[in-house]
Amino acid sequence: MQIREVIQLIEQDIPLSYAEDFDNVGLLTGNPEATLKGVLITHDAIEPVIDEAIAKDLNFIVSFHPILFKGIKSLTGKNYVEKALIKALKNDIAIYAIHTALDNQSFGVSGLLAKHLGLLNTRVLIPQSGTLRQLVTYVPIADAEKVRQNLFKAGAGTIGKYDQCSFNIQGTGTYRPLESAQPYLGEIGQRHVESEERISVIFPRHLQAEIVKHLLMSHPYEEVAYEVFTLENNHPEIGMGIIGELPVPVDEEDYLKTLKTTLNLSCIRHSALRGKPLKKVAVLGGSGSFGIDMAKAAGADIYITSDLKYHDFFRGESQMILADVGHYESEQYTKMFLFEQLTKKIRNFAVALSEINTNPINYF
Ligand SMILES: [Zn+2]
Repeated sequence: MQIREVIQLIEQDIPLSYAEDFDNVGLLTGNPEATLKGVLITHDAIEPVIDEAIAKDLNFIVSFHPILFKGIKSLTGKNYVEKALIKALKNDIAIYAIHTALDNQSFGVSGLLAKHLGLLNTRVLIPQSGTLRQLVTYVPIADAEKVRQNLFKAGAGTIGKYDQCSFNIQGTGTYRPLESAQPYLGEIGQRHVESEERISVIFPRHLQAEIVKHLLMSHPYEEVAYEVFTLENNHPEIGMGIIGELPVPVDEEDYLKTLKTTLNLSCIRHSALRGKPLKKVAVLGGSGSFGIDMAKAAGADIYITSDLKYHDFFRGESQMILADVGHYESEQYTKMFLFEQLTKKIRNFAVALSEINTNPINYF
């Protein structure tokens, strides 16, 4: 098995196309064609983790955060990033990062946090825009079903708990084959009139290339007429953060205690309590100050995230409690999730969970 194949298995469920533009995801070092010895899952691919991979004879590190984030102009080992990269390169260890591609999945970083906190009726807090597309094509009636089947096979027409969704309407198509054309139906130089079906399907953005490939493969015309539109409505499962509800309203102080126990925290930084029970909870794993206004607008009683600054704690006003539970702590379930996903998919190779806690923040 090649490292490239492991990457394909990861990206089947977590396509990189939903990563944020500022991010640096995917393969960061190493040769994708190299033969896999085994996988090491970590949160941060820092030097001690590279050492662990060497000791365990694993040559592919799957990391949550990208160790290489900003462009570099030299590689001399002058800081912790370069030290890790140089050691990985010298030892033929490939490093891969998934980061915001996983943040933007409803089952991802925030989804895992919401699940462990037992939130019900969950939905994505900040849906990503431009994630849904529509394909419209025109097919001779006799060939319509074959084309529809192929579009479904490529993943078009899946909406929530339904698949094979499409809308179909019959009408009249016209065309005139020109000199060197090889028309499936009709004569050169004469306008042809054909009864056609207009098939329309929606699909998530990352499937577009595959869906168009299946369309062109199965459509009988030499020139396939089709249109792809970006939709204004969002894919409900793609975006940052999760909002949900507690089964019953809970006293604020009791909830902070539960939060501390569940997430195994030594402290929580939080804004003033409001003196009324909590019901609606918004979570966003990792740095989440950008989501404060959305959580508030969605009616959250508490927003659980990390990396909040002094002034951020004022922004809940008297409506919403802000709770900073720590960056690593808010993302703590990610490593195990990646481990379980890969263990399910790769049976004949070692997949190891790094034993190193890479959280750089300590509490005294
Ligand atoms: Zn993070």
